[in-house]
Parts: sequence; C-alpha cells; structure tokens
Amino acid sequence: MAYLTLKNINKIYPNGFHAVHDFNLEAERGEFIVFVGPSGCGKSTTLRMIAGLEDISKGDFLIDGELANNWGPREREVAMVFQSYALYPNMSVYDNLAFGLNLQGVDEDVIEERVQKTAKILGLTEYLDRMPRALSGGQRQRVAVGRSIIRKVGIFLMDEPLSNLDAKQRVTMRSEITQIHRETGATTIYVTHDQTEAMTMADRIVVMKNGYVQQVGTPKEVYFNPVNMFVAGFIGEPPMNFITRKVEKGCITIGQHSLDLSKKLGERVSEYEGKDIVFGFRPEAIALGEKADAYVVSGTVELTEMLGDNANVYVDVDGDKSILKVTPHEIPDMDSDIAFSIPYEGVYIFDAETENVI
Ligand code: ATP
Repeated sequence: MAYLTLKNINKIYPNGFHAVHDFNLEAERGEFIVFVGPSGCGKSTTLRMIAGLEDISKGDFLIDGELANNWGPREREVAMVFQSYALYPNMSVYDNLAFGLNLQGVDEDVIEERVQKTAKILGLTEYLDRMPRALSGGQRQRVAVGRSIIRKVGIFLMDEPLSNLDAKQRVTMRSEITQIHRETGATTIYVTHDQTEAMTMADRIVVMKNGYVQQVGTPKEVYFNPVNMFVAGFIGEPPMNFITRKVEKGCITIGQHSLDLSKKLGERVSEYEGKDIVFGFRPEAIALGEKADAYVVSGTVELTEMLGDNANVYVDVDGDKSILKVTPHEIPDMDSDIAFSIPYEGVYIFDAETENVI
C-alpha cells in the first residue's frame, strides 16, 4: 500500500480562488517526489495541505491507509524545510539542532547523540558552537535541514530549500539532500520551480501548471515521453523547439523540406489532414548534416554560444527560432546556412489545438 495517498485533492482559498484541482498521487515509503512547475501553479499549496498547515477543501489525504485530512501537523509526523532558513539567531548551531527535541522532553544524552550524528551527516560538527550569523548561506541551510532530520519523521517536506543559495552551493546541497534522503529513508516531497533540481533529485516528478497536474513520472519518463507541449517545454534545458505547420497530403513543409509525417505517426496522420500540428524536437536530439532515417531541416545561424562542453546554436528555421546543441568542434559560422537531422524517435508531434502529444 502507498504510504501517502492524495485522492482528488482540491484547494479553494477563502477568497474563492481555486488553487489546486483534483490532485492525485500515491507515494511509496521512502520515495523522493518532486513537485515542479512555474510560480503560482499550486506546488506550495499542495505541500502545505500535506503538512497540515492548510485545510484540504475537497478530496482525501491518507497516511499509511488512514484518512488524515483532519490530523494536525504533529500527528502526521512531518518535518518541513522552508525557503527561508528560520534559524533561531540567538542560539548556537547545537541549540538550533536540539531545539525540537528539547521541546519534546527528550533525554539530554539522546539529544547529544542525535545532534552529533546529524552534525556528522551534514558536515556541521566543527560549527556546533557557532551562532547562525557566523555561518555561510549553505551552512545555515544545512542547519535548517538538520533541524528537520534530527526528528525521526516519516515524511520530509521541503519548499524550495535551495533557492537562497548561489549556483555552486545549490549543486553541492542537491547531492547532499539526495544522500540524506537515502540515509533517513523518509518519504520526501520537494517543491521547486527548477527543472534541473527535479530531474537530478527525484524518483518521480509531478509537473504542475495552473493548479492542475500535467504528468507524473520518473525523470526519464517526463523527458522522453512528455504528454503535452507544456511538459515537453518545461523539462529540458534549453527547452524543446516547436514549429507549427499545417498537414497537407500527410506532410508538413519547413523551408524547402517536405517532411512525411507518416514516418512518425503511421496511418494516424490522416486524422490531421488540413489541421495544424506542432513539430517538436530537443536541441540535443539533432545531428548536423543530412542523415538517413531522420527528418532533415535547414536554417540560418543567428547566434552561437560556446558553453565549454557543448554549444548552443540559435537558428532561424523558415521563420521559426530553434536552438541546436552541438559539440564545441561543430560550431557553425554566423549567418551560414546549415542542414540538420532529427532521428524519428527524437521528434514529437503535438495536436496544435489540444497541445497534447499525438
Ligand atoms: P511559487 O513557486 O511562486 O511559490 P507555487 O506553485 O508554490 O508558486 P502556490 O503558492 O501554491 O504556488 O500558489 C498557488 C496559487 O494560489 C497562486 O495563484 C497564489 O496566488 C494563490 N494563493 C496562495 N495563497 C493564497 C491565499 N491565502 N489566498 C488566495 N490565494 C492564494
């Protein structure tokens, strides 16, 4: 049985705003789930309903099979890490870590042991006597994480815990949090608007938009099999390229190239005759030049960005802008006309009206 079950969960705020619509999810014990989506899509609201900080307007929330809608945060045995570190400024790192256990009346010996163990996991041992103001942002965030994991809880909730850190600290903390998760074994729900965090940390990703779940899947599933243009465009960096064209005689025309859609869609292409479809491909799915078993397209190079291990090439493709990823040795000249190929399996065709993948 799933450890956490969200069945048709809805949130309607007192002002009438419907922030979350029919959210469904089953999380297994020990799973690392990431909610990802743009600002305002309902990630934090859903997390707060799981934490017991926000009422559930409609739907069932179960913990280990028991209806928990009306349980308080304590009964749910959750620990939460927020964006702001919320440390006690007048307490040392040791006291910040020990605070929750002190409140619970846990024995001093046990507190000492758990503080030392937590500090060790987080690399904070030598900072236990310091005050928070004498720590870097990354160290403070570690203390905040430590305060949550020191209590042995079943559910670990994190709301954008890395957003106040610089790029380098984020990369370090990303792997640390994943490691801590493995060690504690708590079911973790992690909120972020950063698709890279979602892809690198999650067992499964929940992609949200405007209060609706778009797709739930492993990082590979949402990357390779996005259900619609939103997921396809949100997951992956730079985002997937989209070119909208009308289907005529089973083909679309991009510049001088006629692309036979039956190669991708088979007989289903006839359903789209005379209609607009969106031709999608990822920047990293292309190969320069004209290849076999691939759609070939041409464009004019408008800009190139050398990134070190690879380069982005901005191309005007028959009036549409596309980004191609190439190796540093392949960077074409500015203003040159280039042909590139996309293998059939690297192409996604979307219904232009519903925006769903065909
Ligand atoms: P962010 O990444 O910016 O934190 P989010 O995806 O976490 O965004 P939520 O904070 O869950 O989004 O907010 C979802 C929607 O609900 C937003 O449009 C927000 O304005 C609205 N909202 C949040 N709190 C309330 C409230 N107390 N009353 C009314 N509307 C609210």
